[in-house]
Amino acid sequence: MNTPHVVIVGAGLGGLNVARHLAKAPVQITLINRENYHLFQPLLYQVAIAGLLPSQIAYPLRTIFRRQKNITFQMGEVTGIDFNARYVKLNGSVIAYDYLVIAVGAETNFFGMEAVERNGFQVKDIQSAILTRNHLLKLFEQASHEVEVEKRRAMLTFVVAGGGPTGVETAGALAELVTRVMAKDFPLLEMEEARIILLESNDHLITAYPHELRHATFELLQHKNVDIRLNSSLADFNGRGVTLSDGSEIATHTLIWTAGVRAAPMLDLLGFEQAGGGRVRVQPTLQLPQHPEVFVLGDAAYLTNGNGQPLPMLSTVAIQQGKVTAQNIQRMISGQAPRPFHYKDPGLLATIGRNAAVARIWGISFRGFIAWVIWVFLHLYRLIGFRNRILVFINWAWDYIFYENQIRLITREQGEK
Ligand SMILES: Cc1cc2nc3c(=O)[nH]c(=O)nc-3n(C[C@H](O)[C@H](O)[C@H](O)COP(=O)(O)OP(=O)(O)OC[C@H]3O[C@@H](n4cnc5c(N)ncnc54)[C@H](O)[C@@H]3O)c2cc1C
Repeated sequence: MNTPHVVIVGAGLGGLNVARHLAKAPVQITLINRENYHLFQPLLYQVAIAGLLPSQIAYPLRTIFRRQKNITFQMGEVTGIDFNARYVKLNGSVIAYDYLVIAVGAETNFFGMEAVERNGFQVKDIQSAILTRNHLLKLFEQASHEVEVEKRRAMLTFVVAGGGPTGVETAGALAELVTRVMAKDFPLLEMEEARIILLESNDHLITAYPHELRHATFELLQHKNVDIRLNSSLADFNGRGVTLSDGSEIATHTLIWTAGVRAAPMLDLLGFEQAGGGRVRVQPTLQLPQHPEVFVLGDAAYLTNGNGQPLPMLSTVAIQQGKVTAQNIQRMISGQAPRPFHYKDPGLLATIGRNAAVARIWGISFRGFIAWVIWVFLHLYRLIGFRNRILVFINWAWDYIFYENQIRLITREQGEK
């Protein structure tokens, strides 16, 4: 009767890790998520470029927690929270809590550019990744029977906006899709007409990475014939052309926007102090200042590290914060004070394609094949589900040996752009 009730909103990397680390704790957990699965977002771009199936990077939550006796799952979207009465609003009903964990993640930030949001593509969830995949594959089909050179060139010009890790990975993977896979499927198409353009408003790529890795990334992408345009900001995209802020235009049917994220919109409704990108300011213990029984973590939380810099919106931050949150809840239950969160930086990684990645681990920088192998095994390790690990490994091995992206299916989707 007196078992404390922990409600976790969001079953991404943060929420999932709270639930797992509370498996043996004397609590009853309700885990709430909009979808019935956990999604491993770092591999989403591979769904968009026809490299992996959604089911290989997502896993049903009820299956993950089948053996954990102290948890129940509810699918749905939390639409409000009463912090004084201590309940969340879900599916037209309410769920009371003793401890609340808010781990609702982030969404794409288009910075108010409505046309870009309407006409552009993003890689944020399964639906958007499949829409992108369908669009890319369809353009090759259309280009294959287009007789006018200029129209064909526009169809085969792919613009990626944002030179962060996701943009870099997407551009590199797209370049390989064109040159290694589609060139074989469409022998009559002149693949020299295809262009991958990567736009970055800064004067360098992957800002958070050390200089030598930025430089290596630049070189690896150039080697794959990606047209990298630094100091280039996007102003508009109407579905047929990109306009840059200097007024120049690029004829293209494809803009993949990876240049911004903001915390989930639900956080705007809560009335707490938010920092840049809508993230909620939390105490070092990840608690809300006014409500110590409420924890916010992962992409939704704003916390600075020792240097005064905000912690990045990264899976490693969410995973570590999940563990600390679970420990702090247990400490509070046993009458102890919660402990502050200290981020242990495990290093940085980004892949640019086959045999090509950059990594910084234990203070050492790697590039090329070694970094790529580290990337492959780390991502396999982080995937949920043994079956998914095996399937993804087989997929990658097949692609590696035969230069194939196997998921080249154009499917009909609701809400297709
Ligand atoms: C394309 C892409 C590539 C990335 N690549 C990397 C990478 O290479 N390395 C890296 O470290 N990080 C990467 N990241 C970032 C990483 O995925 C995030 O930092 C991490 O997932 C954050 O975890 P989280 O638990 O805070 O949020 P999320 O994992 O986003 O989970 C939030 C969950 O909350 C649910 N939710 C949201 N609102 C509600 C609501 N109102 N009610 C119920 N449920 C709700 C969502 O459906 C979701 O399941 C990438 C992200 C993306 C999108």
